[in-house]
Amino acid sequence: MTATILDGRALAQELRTATQSEIAHLSAQLGRTPGLAVVQVLGDAASTRYVRSIEKLCATVGAGFRLIALPPETTQAELEASIAALNADSEVDGILLQLPLPAHLNANAAIMEIDHRKDVDGVHPINAGLLAQGRTALVANTPAGGMELLRHYQIELRGKRAAVVGRSAIVGRPMAQLLIQADATVTVCHSRTPDLGAVLRECEIVCVAAGRPGLVTAEMIRPGAVVVDFGTNVGADGSLVGDVDFAASAEVAGAITPVPGGTGPMTNVMLMRNLVAAARNLHQL
Ligand code: NDP
Repeated sequence: MTATILDGRALAQELRTATQSEIAHLSAQLGRTPGLAVVQVLGDAASTRYVRSIEKLCATVGAGFRLIALPPETTQAELEASIAALNADSEVDGILLQLPLPAHLNANAAIMEIDHRKDVDGVHPINAGLLAQGRTALVANTPAGGMELLRHYQIELRGKRAAVVGRSAIVGRPMAQLLIQADATVTVCHSRTPDLGAVLRECEIVCVAAGRPGLVTAEMIRPGAVVVDFGTNVGADGSLVGDVDFAASAEVAGAITPVPGGTGPMTNVMLMRNLVAAARNLHQL
């Protein structure tokens, strides 16, 4: 293997430790711990596992955690009322609405109800708009984590050609915006892009968030390119695989994130960093 492995597990550990001391300092200033509230409409097992991992992380870094667990039959009005209560709660600095919601609920409408200053998941259109304008925003955690990995490994982005595969509001689009902000020249690819390989082979930076295992093969990678794989797919044997053919691509790329252990571990720690940023901003510290 020739590529440098971009080790998200190690970096996330380092950032957790740094965030823990920032939170201790912030708690002393606030006279209380900065608080995260998670709104979860019950019924999805994967969602419950994720919420537990956030609760554990909050305990590790010393942040406050509150779970608003709503029954599966919750109405849109009830959901929005619980968000409004958290907006008004001075002990809550960050609100995370756990997605997906059951089909009878409108996620976009619920997200609109979150005070954008407490939107630690970076999903509110005001934060997406601020990011698109290159202004300070609470940025979606997964792409923010990918950028942090690139920054940590001192990957030069300025003037580089970058491709993002995927255009979701939560990963692909914000990743493209962050790369633009870092002075890369960015192409966004999606399911209607003909000849994905031809686009990717032109790029020195390739970020993939499609949710399609094996979509990006080694033949699509320019020798020496940096590959960031956000894909998180469960293989037939239950193991986690990315969207990139890792083994073969690692022979061609200059640097690559593994799955698991690359972008995945970075996401939650970026949530904690957003919580710190939101609390500081709300209290003008
Ligand atoms: P979405 O399903 O919302 O978006 C997938 C995107 O990929 C769409 O824009 C789609 O195009 C595009 N796409 C699908 N098939 C192809 C194809 N054959 N060629 C090119 N583009 C394609 O997924 P998310 O953005 O939410 O997630 C993407 C991946 O990232 C998933 O594996 C998810 O599990 C993972 N993820 C990882 C996280 C982490 O912590 N590392 C956190 C969040 C997500 P179109 O718009 O045309 O449909």
